Amino acid sequence: MRWWTRVLLFHVFIAPVFALHMWAHVPAGVMAVALAITWLSLRSLVTKHADPNAPLAPVRQVAELPSVRPEPARRIHVLGYTCEICGRSLTNAESQRARVGSECIKSHGPRYRFTANPDHDRWAEEDARARVYQVVKQAELNQLHERAMDAHALEVENWAAELTSPEAAERARLRRKAKFWRSVVGVAFWTALAGQFAIGHALPTADQNSPDAVALKSAVSEYTVAYFKGDEKQAVDAMWSRACLAESGPSSAARSLINMNGATHGSGYASDITVIRLDAGEARVSYKYSSGQKSGTVASQPWVFEFGGWKFDDC
Ligand SMILES: [Zn+2]
Repeated sequence: MRWWTRVLLFHVFIAPVFALHMWAHVPAGVMAVALAITWLSLRSLVTKHADPNAPLAPVRQVAELPSVRPEPARRIHVLGYTCEICGRSLTNAESQRARVGSECIKSHGPRYRFTANPDHDRWAEEDARARVYQVVKQAELNQLHERAMDAHALEVENWAAELTSPEAAERARLRRKAKFWRSVVGVAFWTALAGQFAIGHALPTADQNSPDAVALKSAVSEYTVAYFKGDEKQAVDAMWSRACLAESGPSSAARSLINMNGATHGSGYASDITVIRLDAGEARVSYKYSSGQKSGTVASQPWVFEFGGWKFDDC
């Protein structure tokens, strides 16, 4: 879906979102949440109808060289047990290597003699065996890899063939459909979200200075003061609509709440009162309220004209 299609859809959706919010009393925020859930389920539908991934190619294993001990010395000393100069027997290890006693060495120097180390030959054999083992192992692994590659080629062939099957075409169709609706619902979500913020701020269409609007605003102001003062008589009995009085009864939770307001707030007031809509005795207002302890915004609150005055109708 192109960006300008989304922009167009946004403008198509904005009117129903406002209408549902204002006249059917479905809050735009609730619409946004419902649309978000729908969007997520459409997204999972796209995933559900996704094509299978291409089969993974096998990886050739590399045979490691088995560990071999460190190479020993190639030559070793031939030890002497009698001094080559004076014939005395040698017990000191250093003298045995030098083949000369510790006295004679001072004037004659050492007479080292070397021979090939038989352990070095053993080591060379071990090392060669390890290298042969590695070569043989690698040949085995190569063969396995060869077979795996053959199997893989077959898998790829089957996979590619499946992508041209009628089932794959059906999957693609379902995917396209889900993607399309996902886009539509996505735009509807942003529209509802924008509506949630716009409603009550950008919408006032009523004349703010008509006698009706002025009377309504002063009723809202009076009601808010009575509400925070905990004046149940004034707020409820005098200013609730017939519908609210009937619905809440004489000992409702709403009444008790207002009663308690006297102790918790004591005083409060409404400001920035805006008449959003005023039509045939029914109205919507938005305003800010503050009591010192608590402040906030009321968006699109319903009021009705009954018994010669404006009555609170948000129940
Ligand atoms: Zn000696």
